[in-house]
Amino acid sequence: MTNFQDLFESYNWDDVKESIYSKTKNDVEHALHTSRRTLEDFKALISPAAAPYLEPMAQLSQKLTLKRFGKTIQLYIPLYLSNECTNICTYCGFSLDNKVRRKTLTEEEILREVHVIKSLGYDHVLLVTGEANQTVHLEYFKKVLNLIRPYFAQVSMEVQPLDTEEYAELIPLGLTSVLIYQETYHKEDYKKHHPKGKKSNFNYRLETPDRLGQAGIHKMGLGVLIGLEDWRTDSFFTALHLNYLEKKYWKTRYSLSFPRLRPFSGGLEPKVEMNDKELVQLICAYRLFNEEVEISLSTRESEKFRNHCVQLGITSISAGSKTNPGGYAVEPESLEQFEISDERSPEMIANMIRSKGYEPVWKDWDRVMQC
Ligand code: SF4
Repeated sequence: MTNFQDLFESYNWDDVKESIYSKTKNDVEHALHTSRRTLEDFKALISPAAAPYLEPMAQLSQKLTLKRFGKTIQLYIPLYLSNECTNICTYCGFSLDNKVRRKTLTEEEILREVHVIKSLGYDHVLLVTGEANQTVHLEYFKKVLNLIRPYFAQVSMEVQPLDTEEYAELIPLGLTSVLIYQETYHKEDYKKHHPKGKKSNFNYRLETPDRLGQAGIHKMGLGVLIGLEDWRTDSFFTALHLNYLEKKYWKTRYSLSFPRLRPFSGGLEPKVEMNDKELVQLICAYRLFNEEVEISLSTRESEKFRNHCVQLGITSISAGSKTNPGGYAVEPESLEQFEISDERSPEMIANMIRSKGYEPVWKDWDRVMQC
């Protein structure tokens, strides 16, 4: 296989879905007790047949997470740089057809935001933009990285997919990780949800993790937007993607997120609902399938749910997030990309983590330790 697309094309969505829904109690018990879990075991763990096994799955997930990551939870915070976007995405408040005031932060505004973020204790920031290649392009990202690098040990990005050479230019400027969510691996539904703009190119997005691996990124994050399609089938394809990437780009670290569709201005109703128990099942299934992968939970989830998940298998959590450009200092009242659910401050989240016997970690590692 030269890239993931070749592997992906060898699977059929409906066959995979049927295979997941036909897993039995015996398949789940085998997946729970085997020492080397395969993608077939992962299918069993995310299947409806695994629902009665949530407790043993949670116990095993906790044990494996403690063994690999210890009693630590990393904290990160998003910094929205721009809400300009030339794409139409049916689920997003920044979509081109949503009539909101557009804004891209200037250098002076970015520094104002950075000072607030630093005062909250953060050393890891996630830069977020829409996709507006005329204004928010490679040169803008280079300028921003040079500007903020002195303030943070890690800088992650969640922006439009770039070419391999562009990623290779940003890595020496301090870019440590990139989040690139496929949204859904269902090709036809992907087209429905991305009718206009560069993001409508399913294959270019699908190949982005390959380009990141080729550029030598330190860490990349995968995931789908839960609510667009059948979450079990989409999760299988995410696991397939992760498996492929880990083998091919073995020096890179990987993380997973499970954003559930949240309300936003002009919002889309989820096609498929996922309840809290099912999200716990998915988190535990991923941990049982992959002991190394980092698992992240954002402020999209509720206070109660995030409190519960700290001991289950997650390794990083955001707190105090604003999802609008200028949200921390410049324009706190501007329109958010989506509504957050857990509104606690970073200090309150850190205290919650400590109350569960875990240590909040404000940065992943020191740059001086990077080889
Ligand atoms: S999801 Fe991203 S690309 Fe799509 S409209 Fe929102 S900001 Fe733009």
